[in-house]
Amino acid sequence: MAETTRRFFPYDSPYPNQGEAMTRIAAALDDGDDVLFEGAPGTGKTLSALVPALEHAREEDRTVVITTNVHQQMRQFVEEARAINDEEDIRAVVFKGKSSMCHIGVDYQECQTLRDTTRELVEDRAEKRELEQQQRELLEASREGDAAAAQRREAIMEELDEVEDRIEDVESANVCEHYRNNLLGDNEEFYEWLYDASGRPRRSTPTPTGTSSVATSC
Ligand code: SF4
Repeated sequence: MAETTRRFFPYDSPYPNQGEAMTRIAAALDDGDDVLFEGAPGTGKTLSALVPALEHAREEDRTVVITTNVHQQMRQFVEEARAINDEEDIRAVVFKGKSSMCHIGVDYQECQTLRDTTRELVEDRAEKRELEQQQRELLEASREGDAAAAQRREAIMEELDEVEDRIEDVESANVCEHYRNNLLGDNEEFYEWLYDASGRPRRSTPTPTGTSSVATSC
């Protein structure tokens, strides 16, 4: 394996045949050839492809794109990217399908329904708290002889009844606790970070490891 190709290899020494595979892949990339590469499990195929690809991309100012529909393989690439990043600064972004990000394993459509119901419930409960506060203040005012306050309180009590009915309906449906916690959590700092001064969302979410995850979930 050429020294230049070794730059992104994060461990002491490659497996038998791994060095040769990297050299061949590096040569194919330099020549613009395609490579068909097969190896037994555990022989270091992931790094054999990644290391020369990163070197080539660094030299040519290009981006390495890895696509896989095998989750285990994706995790392997992420792990290797982290190990490489410990030695040599790289920037990696992981795109995952929403369906594989869901903590409770529901599909896109069901998630949408759960999110709608959950948001409705959270908003209705917030409205209920606000109306209760208003009715308490109006009650106090009406006890002190404010007739208009008594009238306004009646209207508020009607609104409260409606909100309570809605909450009862929604509570009997399923909600997503994860999404509920996101809505109720103190996320201000995160959203300030997520949306830069221009109001546009950032393009990725850096993690301390140098890899980034981009996914549409929760
Ligand atoms: S909001 Fe998140 S956890 Fe809840 S159903 Fe959707 S993807 Fe799953």
